[in-house]
Amino acid sequence: MGSLHDHAGEEEVSPGGGRRCDLVVRSRRVVTPEGERALAVAVHGGLIEALCPYDDPPEADELADLGDLPLLPGLVDSHVHVNEPGRTHWEGFATATAAAAAGGVTTIVDMPLNSLPPTLDVASLEVKRKAAEGRCHVDVGFWGGAVPGNLPDLRPLHEAGVMGVKCFLSPSGVEEFPELDHDGLRAALAEVAGFGGLLIAHAEDPALLSEPGGPAYDDFLRSRPQEAERRAVERVIALAAETGARAHIVHVSAAACLGPLREARAAGVRVSAETCPHYLTLAAEQVTGPAYKCCPPIREAANRDALWEALAEGVLMGIVSDHSPSTPDLKVPDFAEAWGGISSLQVGLPAVWTAARARGYGLTDVVRWMAEGPARLAGLPYKGAIRPGNDADLVAFDPDAEFTVDVAALHHRNPVSPYHGRRLSGLVRTTWLRGAPVDLAAPAGRLLTRGAR
Ligand SMILES: [Zn+2]
Repeated sequence: MGSLHDHAGEEEVSPGGGRRCDLVVRSRRVVTPEGERALAVAVHGGLIEALCPYDDPPEADELADLGDLPLLPGLVDSHVHVNEPGRTHWEGFATATAAAAAGGVTTIVDMPLNSLPPTLDVASLEVKRKAAEGRCHVDVGFWGGAVPGNLPDLRPLHEAGVMGVKCFLSPSGVEEFPELDHDGLRAALAEVAGFGGLLIAHAEDPALLSEPGGPAYDDFLRSRPQEAERRAVERVIALAAETGARAHIVHVSAAACLGPLREARAAGVRVSAETCPHYLTLAAEQVTGPAYKCCPPIREAANRDALWEALAEGVLMGIVSDHSPSTPDLKVPDFAEAWGGISSLQVGLPAVWTAARARGYGLTDVVRWMAEGPARLAGLPYKGAIRPGNDADLVAFDPDAEFTVDVAALHHRNPVSPYHGRRLSGLVRTTWLRGAPVDLAAPAGRLLTRGAR
């Protein structure tokens, strides 16, 4: 890592005594794991080299002085359905990662389903990596899938670098990705425990789900009760305890799940859980159309308070988008028939920030939930925090700027989102990926493997 300005083999030395660096971004509000600090973040070779006093920045080829504008680490969204290849008309790597970059997200982890083929073995992982290569504006990692019959593929997927494997306990919505039954879940957890991996689960108990009794949102909501989530979460907890596996519950929507998760944590069971912006910021009472449909469903406003408390407590460790788009024609007005999936990748940060601030939380909390937590889950120790040695993924964020979401102006492929028309606080001004501002004309995202750089 030589300086750009070597003289007779000697590296130039800045007045502060350090090596001259590529970039310094300084702000009086740098959001670090220890809180907000006035700092100068020194970047060299794409990495955060040092955190220096705001008033004594090292010499650099370029200085970005944000003044009072906060600097956040790039967010990590470990739950994104990119859908390419195979359903690229729903979403693709170029559009999803452009939306991510514009929304302050510098790392996404792609879900194994809704693409064709689904990511169920190393060959299909390679197909997906090939589809992503050269198209990504942010860094991209991959989850594999656990379905009936692919138990022998889980270890090879792990060794090929997926962040973990995902399973469903109820029908997934696409026939090529069937759910695991009780014995299948136990076998998958035992297998994953054998190689020190991670299993993430969509937890709804199919025995407690029903066909909606009509086309309205209330019918749909009643067909997927809190009890279905709670029972499935309890099953994952029990089998994780039995097998010793590390497990994670994706997109918790029901407050009823929090008690069992709290007890599991206290008992030392290796189970974590996440929630999503829509469960925290939207409510069943506000639903106006099928853009709001997802599984598990957005529940009543009273349910939200418990989710926020669980985040503050650490029982929920992260907030991730579960961005799961489709073409608009699949979002039919009948809630029983509409595609279940919410598009929100670009607006997750302002949506969460707007609600978090109103509840008295700060940017340090939002960063813990939307960057540090998901980075830890996905096995990316060099992402998600402004810390020397980490990738210089940085976001200049204006917490006070307001805007109205216009779905047509968002970068994701199909103009559908329940946030359309909402007034939100928080604008991403600049996103740096490994020290370079994201340039949509020149995709610079890398494909990530678990743990490795
Ligand atoms: Zn999902």
